[in-house]
Amino acid sequence: MPHSYLVIGGNGFLGRHIQEQIRLRKDGATISVFDMNKPADADSDVTYYTGDLRKFEDVYNALEGITAVIHCASPPHVNSANPPRDLYFSINVDGTKNIIRACQERGVEILVVTSSGSVISTGEPMVNVDESTPYPPEAIDVYTESKIECEKVVLAANGEKNIRTCTIRPSAIFGPGDRQLLPGMIEVCEKGQHRFQIGDNSSLMDFTYVGNVAYAHVLAAEKLVDPASPAAGQAFNLTNGTPVPF
Ligand code: NAD
Repeated sequence: MPHSYLVIGGNGFLGRHIQEQIRLRKDGATISVFDMNKPADADSDVTYYTGDLRKFEDVYNALEGITAVIHCASPPHVNSANPPRDLYFSINVDGTKNIIRACQERGVEILVVTSSGSVISTGEPMVNVDESTPYPPEAIDVYTESKIECEKVVLAANGEKNIRTCTIRPSAIFGPGDRQLLPGMIEVCEKGQHRFQIGDNSSLMDFTYVGNVAYAHVLAAEKLVDPASPAAGQAFNLTNGTPVPF
């Protein structure tokens, strides 16, 4: 049966590509978007809800008639000496708990959540790691700490009150609409900092194309239709396949 999707954070970079991947399935699924920001360009086939996922009622109201939720909202990752810890935890952890509870009260059975490849990062080289890799004793930064906590909450909810959950862990996402990766690289070039090299150019980094990341979310939601799906309760590392020097 086609889904009625609610994409939470659907007006962001990844969220817009998730909308596009849902359309490309051409299976009659409907798209609703929940976001604290209004869309730059509204699409006529989308129902928009403006709200804050930290407010339970906002989320609950947007879930009427929905069969699958894809949650890709988060504050952006910032490199700062004073990262906004409360903001990260209130949205990524407490807000995600709101989404889980609202899904359970509305009878929404499918929840796919965007995590991050950084949740298993130790800060040391990691090659060919898989999902059996444990969380490190200490997260590499506060943003990642909140993403680990978010992931634990989501996976622990699997099977509670008929909800099936999974998380997707992309690494640095690139592609049309990116507002973090490319602007940072352009700034480096504009400042002339690209003339300096740290290390011997053997460090590898996994960049992931946004269309692939979006497609993974939709595939995960489709897999979770089956109440006995082996995807339920699982976290999935996501890679483009070939890491590149960074
Ligand atoms: P983005 O900032 O472009 O989009 C996030 C969206 O979430 C925005 O539209 C924002 O308005 C919305 N949002 C934030 N807080 C909200 C709230 N309280 N209530 C409602 N809406 C809220 O970010 P993105 O790059 O598209 O990232 C999407 C997801 O992917 C995030 O979960 C992020 O942690 C994860 N991720 C991103 C990258 C990357 O390189 N961009 C890498 C790994 C993981």
